[in-house]
Amino acid sequence: MLIFTEKKKLREYLDKNTNRSIGFIPTMGALHEGHISLVKKSLELCEISVCSIFVNPKQFNRKKDFTNYPVSIQSDLKFLSEIKCDAVYMPSSSDLYKKNEKIQDYNLGRLTKIMEGEFRSGHFNGVITVVKKFLDIIQPTHIFFGEKDLQQLQIIKFIVKQEALNIEVIQLPTIREKNGLAMSSRNKLLNDTEKEKASLIYTSLIFCKNQKEKLSIQEMKKKITQDFKKSTYLELEYLEFIDLVKFQETTNWERENAICISAHLNNVRLIDNIIL
Ligand code: AMP
Repeated sequence: MLIFTEKKKLREYLDKNTNRSIGFIPTMGALHEGHISLVKKSLELCEISVCSIFVNPKQFNRKKDFTNYPVSIQSDLKFLSEIKCDAVYMPSSSDLYKKNEKIQDYNLGRLTKIMEGEFRSGHFNGVITVVKKFLDIIQPTHIFFGEKDLQQLQIIKFIVKQEALNIEVIQLPTIREKNGLAMSSRNKLLNDTEKEKASLIYTSLIFCKNQKEKLSIQEMKKKITQDFKKSTYLELEYLEFIDLVKFQETTNWERENAICISAHLNNVRLIDNIIL
């Protein structure tokens, strides 16, 4: 497995491999089975797979969240080399950003305004900026994203379409712990009891899915809000019922929908969703 810390060197390597399919898997490291499922899919579909590990400072709206973000480079590299990922790109901030670089404001309407866009101001501007930089450097034929970050996935699909980029966006299902908790790098900040309590997020999503025919969205919101109020561990940030075609809140179940949750447990912010 080749490890690059400079875009120039990575580009030199890729230039020796023109006309080959290139799969790109952007991550912030602290890798788990969810990330690995993306890399494995890339290895299956593409001739060269490049995984990036970069905790992008520009997508954090709270400094503490950024400084607390788990880092485990050695085990990440072990994970990736075991599954024979071709290349890892681990840039420093200065390899990607100019000093005091201003981030462009991408206003994609509701897509960037609700949920993560509402509660993490500037988050998607940072995500779009870094993904565009990676795409410029790597020029992949395929890019891999998890459904776990559903809004991010929709935004990337939108940008690829809007800019007519010749890239296939591959989306993969959320990998979960045994108790249903979506795997996340942030789970590393939770102890065993907290992980157990955090499964309320998934059980709430499943409850809504199962009650779809019986309860109205309002009734579900009320019930889930009450369940979270009873939990001494979790604080609900949002529960949204989304129309996936328009990517906006929905009040009925007419077409492709998703239910999305964000909750805080201590200082750890967890998100999850279920696509119906
Ligand atoms: P992150 O390192 O959190 O920025 O995530 C990198 C990529 O891995 C994103 O496309 C995520 O959606 C995806 N991912 C994160 N957690 C999971 C999971 N539990 N299952 C599948 N994909 C995931």
